[in-house]
Amino acid sequence: MALLKGTAVSAGIAQGSAYVVACGYRSAVPQRSIRPSEVDGERRRFDAAVAKAGAELAVLQEDVRERIGGSQAEIFAAQRLILVDGSLHDQVLRTLEEKRVNLEAAVSEVFGSAARNLEVVGGGTLQARAADVDDVRRRILTALAEAPAGARPEIPEGAIVVSDELLPSVTARLQLDNVRAFVTARGNKFSHSSILARGLGTPAVTSVASALAQIKTGDRLIVDGVAGVVFVNPERSIEREYDRLAADLEASKRKLRQLVDLSSVTLDGTTLPLLANVNKFSDTEAALLYNADGIGLYRTEFAFSIRSGFPTEEEQFEFLERAAERMHPRKLVFRLVDLGGDKILPYFPLPPSRNPSLSERGIRLLLRHLDVLKTQLRAFLRVSAKHPVSVLLPVVVGVEDVRRLRGVLRQVQSELAAEGKPFNPGIPLGAMIEVPSAALMVRTLAKEVDFLSLGTNDLVQYVLAADREDEGTAPYYQPLHPAVLRLIGSVVEDAKSAGRDLAICGEMAGDPLHTALLLGLGLRELSVAPGQMLEVKEAIRRTRLDEARKLASAALELGSAAEVETLLNEQRPAASGRVADLP
Ligand code: PEP
Ligand code: MG
Repeated sequence: MALLKGTAVSAGIAQGSAYVVACGYRSAVPQRSIRPSEVDGERRRFDAAVAKAGAELAVLQEDVRERIGGSQAEIFAAQRLILVDGSLHDQVLRTLEEKRVNLEAAVSEVFGSAARNLEVVGGGTLQARAADVDDVRRRILTALAEAPAGARPEIPEGAIVVSDELLPSVTARLQLDNVRAFVTARGNKFSHSSILARGLGTPAVTSVASALAQIKTGDRLIVDGVAGVVFVNPERSIEREYDRLAADLEASKRKLRQLVDLSSVTLDGTTLPLLANVNKFSDTEAALLYNADGIGLYRTEFAFSIRSGFPTEEEQFEFLERAAERMHPRKLVFRLVDLGGDKILPYFPLPPSRNPSLSERGIRLLLRHLDVLKTQLRAFLRVSAKHPVSVLLPVVVGVEDVRRLRGVLRQVQSELAAEGKPFNPGIPLGAMIEVPSAALMVRTLAKEVDFLSLGTNDLVQYVLAADREDEGTAPYYQPLHPAVLRLIGSVVEDAKSAGRDLAICGEMAGDPLHTALLLGLGLRELSVAPGQMLEVKEAIRRTRLDEARKLASAALELGSAAEVETLLNEQRPAASGRVADLP
């Protein structure tokens, strides 16, 4: 038996069989040994995948030339050459024959090590080439994953997916219904895959550094997504202990379910809107199940990441309209697709960057890709004809971003009007406050937008200079740092004096330990993952606002996140029905 420690990122207990799907950096690749008789079949799959990837690249090259420009299209010409490179092909075939691994593993190894070699040699052009080789690797793997059923190793039902790192675009392609839990070597609580796991209600533990070295497909695992530990081939006594804990958790969930129909009202009688963060249409069902007052954040990236090209206006309209219909008459905040940083799409190559979090992303990136922006705005506006929806701008840095967006919005509105398509001309426009400059400029921004939404996931990383995706900086990524709390306090004050509604939709709002503190700082609208709504509601119903204000003032006087956490834990009611503090 082995006990591996990591970080708990999505609560819950799961027991099941490991299914290792990762073997390389930033990839999720099924890996298995093959019999000699399978080698020929794998060769044929390689030829078919290369042909498919080649055809896709040719289409993309043409499409990008028309829609974006010639120099961007050249990237795909270069990738087509890499795709048919004879030496890489020979190496893949040799790896198949000599190492007897499946094609996905061989492609990943050969293209992955070619990319790493180029990166090590360094220099701007070579680094760009490394990114291209890596992108080609991903494209071949995608072509293999999309091959007809049978050719693709299915994730067995009830599997616990073990991987190096899960990019949102990769997670989106897994058969999520079959996954009982996630264990990853890289990532942290605020990584997008962790957010997705919480959204799915699937237990997850990340930052398990030795996960890939210690876990093989088929190992029996217990994933404790509360304590952040993973047991590999545990003894029977441990399994029994976890059966008991799982039953306890289930009982406390049942208790929480009694809260569904109660309102989120504080002990002194203030009722607060409690909304849901969703990533896809089906999440709206969970939001309704937990009786959300609306959708405070509809992240649209997921819908982009499960396709092999940008969704059309019609496709976007269709799923957004369905979500709005389900939620009607509750409000729904659609966020424009937030690309850049770690949110990358295989069909939308971005220039390689040493520091993706600090490169062009969010609204700025969209404003340079008007085609993508206008298509999405048209879909949002068309939904607004019948439903109370609003538009949220991601990663706003300053007023210019909002003014430029308004210009595009006006243009799109007059195009729709000319076509006789109905929409709400006064559709509310909001800005995410997730970059320190925006947080400091709230009074000015408030003049340009109708509402504001505090995105603490990014705000924390930019205030504390700690990458949200990197397990190395995880100890420095501290949502409870007094600097973060002071900034939140000042955003609340400024939004209030400007008369603008302010919600918080970052993950810190979903932790019931933080609820009283956030209310004490003056926040009055919370948007959290559906699975966290009941615990947060319970915490709201335990809060008295004057005490919460005192708690917040005390926290603001402290010097470190650890001190704030101790203060909050002192106020926390005795744990009830929670999982014991296992290792
Ligand atoms: C945030 O940054 O807090 C946020 C809600 O956006 P995302 O997590 O999608 O970056
Ligand atoms: Mg963000």
